[in-house]
Amino acid sequence: MSVNQAAVSTAESVRSKSARTTTSGYTAMRPKAPLVTFSFERREPREHDVVIDIQYCGICHSDIHQAREEWGEATFPMVPGHEIVGTVKAVGSKVKRFKVGDRAGVGCFVDSCRACPECQRGQEQYCSVLTSWTYNGREQDQLTPTYGGYSERIVVDENYVLRMPENLPADGSAPLLCAGITLYSPLKHWGAGPGKKVAIVGLGGLGHMGVKLAHALGAEVTVLSQSNRKAQDAKRLGADHFYATSDPETFAKLERHFDLIVNTVSADINWNDYLKLLKVDGAMIVVGIPEKENAVAAASIVMGRRTLAGSAIGGIEETQEMLDFCGQHNIVSDIEVIPIQKVNEAYERVLKSDVRYRFVIDMASLKQR
Ligand code: NAP
Ligand code: ZN
Ligand code: ZN
Repeated sequence: MSVNQAAVSTAESVRSKSARTTTSGYTAMRPKAPLVTFSFERREPREHDVVIDIQYCGICHSDIHQAREEWGEATFPMVPGHEIVGTVKAVGSKVKRFKVGDRAGVGCFVDSCRACPECQRGQEQYCSVLTSWTYNGREQDQLTPTYGGYSERIVVDENYVLRMPENLPADGSAPLLCAGITLYSPLKHWGAGPGKKVAIVGLGGLGHMGVKLAHALGAEVTVLSQSNRKAQDAKRLGADHFYATSDPETFAKLERHFDLIVNTVSADINWNDYLKLLKVDGAMIVVGIPEKENAVAAASIVMGRRTLAGSAIGGIEETQEMLDFCGQHNIVSDIEVIPIQKVNEAYERVLKSDVRYRFVIDMASLKQR
């Protein structure tokens, strides 16, 4: 058996030899290794499971951070991908919310403990016992590794599967499942809306969804980007203003200007410079997760009673609310669809901020050899 065809023995498959289906996908065999073809096993549907044939999967910068082990120890082989849209192929005997043929989505997690205060509140992403991340995670048995959406099929409990708006294209709506909810949740939580000046820092996959969503929520939206390259795009996406952060004038001009800043940057930037752009009582929400730690001066938040906070994706209920909101407002991601054979090239382009604005893998390409 060649390395890249290695069949992975999971705890589930050990329990029942017949209860598994071989699935093909792409994997990183070790940190920083290029992704290669891979065969592994998915469980047969349990009573509450939905089997989804994956049509499209977005490429999130988090896939790259994790495949390169930039967030600490990761599990390999790793099949990344947590912006998954597909068609329901089969359902377990007790599934109520989905039927064969439905369009379905899966985001960043596939299970959680369901009993802790966070799960009870619908904030499964903050589960205090174990959030089962869609990949580079563990099932609730705390043993079985999870494998993500760069693959032909996934099996997920119906309570962790999303209904995709039928009026939106399947490919463009895939990135809503991570990029969309990651911006929607803090924008809603910190009250982005009419009369609020909101800045989105970084116009990438997350950032461009932030512009569309904040605009749809009625806020006055400003994009802060490294250069002027994306100025036209920002306006087209719904931004009212655009500034390049490479221009030192920007920070002088915008001092004490914003009610809310959402920082989506995947690399190290000086947060103190951005905190100064907040009004009194303004808040900067960090959603980008760079590899290194960031130093914050006390004065940056003390002076102006400012808030520095973070936010991770959103719970299932809020993700469904965001999808329905996007359906009503016709919001999808601006995408470049690629065959899976181009995934390594796409990673390099994301690292150079050379994507307008999300790569989405057409999973039908898995059948091309
Ligand atoms: P992305 O598409 O690569 O966008 C990141 C943007 O950051 C780039 O487009 C670029 O925007 C800006 N940027 C990159 N390098 C920079 C640098 N050296 N200095 C200043 N700006 C820089 O990535 P993404 O998929 O949107 O993800 C962004 C970050 O959020 C990643 O760290 C990812 O892991 C994290 N994330 C967090 C959550 C969460 O739940 N909190 C969810 C998903 C992703 P400009 O070209 O406009 O400057
Ligand atoms: Zn993501
Ligand atoms: Zn929990």
